[in-house]
This record gives sequence, C-alpha cells and structure tokens, in this order.
Amino acid sequence: MRVYKHLSQLVTLESAVKKDGRHLVASDLSVIEDGAIVFDEKIIHWVGKTSELPLEFKTLSSVDLSGHVLLPEIIDSHTHAVFGGDRAPEYAERLNGTSYEEIAKRGGGILFTMNETHKLNPNELFELARIRLEKIFSYGVGTVEVKSGYGLSYAKEKELSEVIFRLKNHFLPRYQIFNTYLAAHDIPKDFPDSKTYLADVVLPLMKELADKKIIDAVDIFHEKNYFTTDDVKKLFSKAKELNLACKIHADELNTNGGAELACEFKALSADHLLKISQEGISQLAKSPTVATLLPGTAFFLGKPLAPARAMLDAGVKVALASDYNPGSCHVDNLILIASMAAANLKMNQAEIWAALTLNASAALGLKNQGVLATGFKSRFSLFKAPTLSHISYHWGTNLAVNLP
Ligand SMILES: [Zn+2]
Repeated sequence: MRVYKHLSQLVTLESAVKKDGRHLVASDLSVIEDGAIVFDEKIIHWVGKTSELPLEFKTLSSVDLSGHVLLPEIIDSHTHAVFGGDRAPEYAERLNGTSYEEIAKRGGGILFTMNETHKLNPNELFELARIRLEKIFSYGVGTVEVKSGYGLSYAKEKELSEVIFRLKNHFLPRYQIFNTYLAAHDIPKDFPDSKTYLADVVLPLMKELADKKIIDAVDIFHEKNYFTTDDVKKLFSKAKELNLACKIHADELNTNGGAELACEFKALSADHLLKISQEGISQLAKSPTVATLLPGTAFFLGKPLAPARAMLDAGVKVALASDYNPGSCHVDNLILIASMAAANLKMNQAEIWAALTLNASAALGLKNQGVLATGFKSRFSLFKAPTLSHISYHWGTNLAVNLP
C-alpha cells in the first residue's frame, strides 16, 4: 500500500456519484484541501485530510504532493485512433469553400481514410496508434476508448479490432483501452446498401470477434445515407444476444431519433447529439444511457454545439470526449477541448470534471471508477496545479504529470 499526502486539492466527486452524475452543482466536486489518499495497485483504502490520516497508515511509504491536484482518472470515451494517412489537404479544401458532401462524393472523407488504412499492415497500424495514444495519455488521460471503422471489409475490420486488442494488452495495467467495434461506420462502395453490408460483414464479424472476446462493445453510424433505424435495431439485438454493450453515433447531422433508440436498447452512450430532439432529451434524462458530447468536432467544423444546457437541466448524464479522428477532429488534448467547451456549452465546473471522469466511466460501463473513495479503483490523474480551476484556466498548457 502507498500514500499520497499534502495534495493541494483532492477532487473526490463523492457527492456527484451519489447523484448519479446528474444535476450537479459546484459542491458536488467534493474537494478536500491538503488531502491524502491510501491505495494499493487495485483499490483505494482511505481518503481524507492529511491531518486525519489514521495511525495504521502513517508508517507506509508516502509521497508529498503539495502543489498538485489529484482527480479520478480522466477518460476519453470516444476516439477513432487507428487509421492510416491524414486529411490535412481535405481540411484546407474545406476552409477554402468546398463542402464535406462534395469532398465525400469524389472519394474523400471516411472512404479516403479507408484506402489509406488498407495500405498499412497490422504492425504499422499498431505503431501509429501506439504513438497517438501515448500522446493522448500525456495530457492526463488514463483510459481511452478506441473504435475500429476504417477497414470496412471483413478482413480489414477484423485486423483493426485485433490491433486495438493488442494495444489494450500493450498498455495494461497502467492504461486501459476499451475496444469498440465500428464496422458500421460507412457503407463501402462495393455493397448496394447498408442492409447487405450489415448482413454480409458487420453481423458475422461481430459474432466472430465476440466469441474470441476481442471486443468490448459495438457502435454504429446512424445517419441519413448511412445506417437506418432498422439496421441499428438488428445490430443492437444481435449484440445483446452476444452480451456486448452498445454505443451509437446519434443525431449528429439530422434529428432522426438516435437518442431514443439508444434508450430503447439501454446503450452505454449516445454520442454527438448536435440535433437531438426534445423527446430524445426527455428519454435520456430517465435512462442510464450517457450523452457523450464531442465539442471538438463541432468547433473544428465550425458548427453549432450540442444543446448541453438543455440536457443537463433535464437531468441527462453528460460525458465529454475528444472524437479524435483524422477528418473532423484531429486533436489529442481532451483537457483543451473541455476547457474551451466549458463556457460555450455553459457547463459548470462539477459538470465538466464529472463529464471527463465519473460520467465518462459510465459511458464505457466501467464499474467502481470515476470517484476517489474507499473501495473504488485506484485509477487517478495528477496535475501540477495549486487548484482544480488552474487546470482549465491555463487552457492549452499541459499541467498533467506522471503518477509517482
Ligand atoms: Zn465518432
């Protein structure tokens, strides 16, 4: 067992977890000044003020962390970190006035990344993603969800899920990778429609990967001209049979009932939600499904942000993630995104930090994580800052430090 003591602030979120991460106010951060924490490699044994450290722990080896803030581990619960190539030329075209639809029509967008991904072998894909993930971790993130989805064929999607599985084993135990199967990301040109692609590739491969225990969840791009409501229902029903958790890219480009579908199937999360309906908000408020907002994407595309305040006021459990991907959000600094989003999404400080920790852990179905309290997992993020406020106040500067 080990002890960290004299932490300038220990942000426990103990009150936030009692409220299930909803309707949070500043005091729900449950900050302990001059805090101490006792833990082993698995769980937390004690949390409190350094001056109140029980006698039994006083002889343990301890580290003085004055001038630092300790938080429950920061989690990035939505990334597309395994891919080949980059889309900088397409970005320039968009800035110069070409629409995404035009770019996609002549083979740009997701299909361009698919071609670049197909040019690389598994070792090359692993190496690129490993470097990207290390960069993401360097900002204080300890768990990252990684989606497949740029293979879009049976063989290549299988390869990508296996690469993510290798990354997971490579980074354990210090970092956790959550493996999400997103073969239903786009419809490859050689299939007549989404239904055929789903039946021939997505569903059979999902079964194979689930049987081998390679993947943790499934996801689908539910949008006009991509996958239909019927496709989602088929995929989620099959996933339930295989005991796989579900996630959905929902209501991003159009209002099409994605949030409602997520609630119907008790999905872990509905993500994006720029165009969520009032009904979708009401249903999410009564559901365990997390609304994962990805403001970095809206910023980068110059779009209006998701209606976060309406969701939060209704009692929706909200998480924030990066959406790290080569096309619409090529940024590895989740804390920077959250700092920029705070004022623009009108989220208070407890809502922001719970969205990066406690609620993000719910978006991945992780148990006993996201809170600094006895019995919870000893997974933390440490920042060299006198207070929590300094972390996002000094936006764009990385204050995360390695755990001693
Ligand atoms: Zn995404």
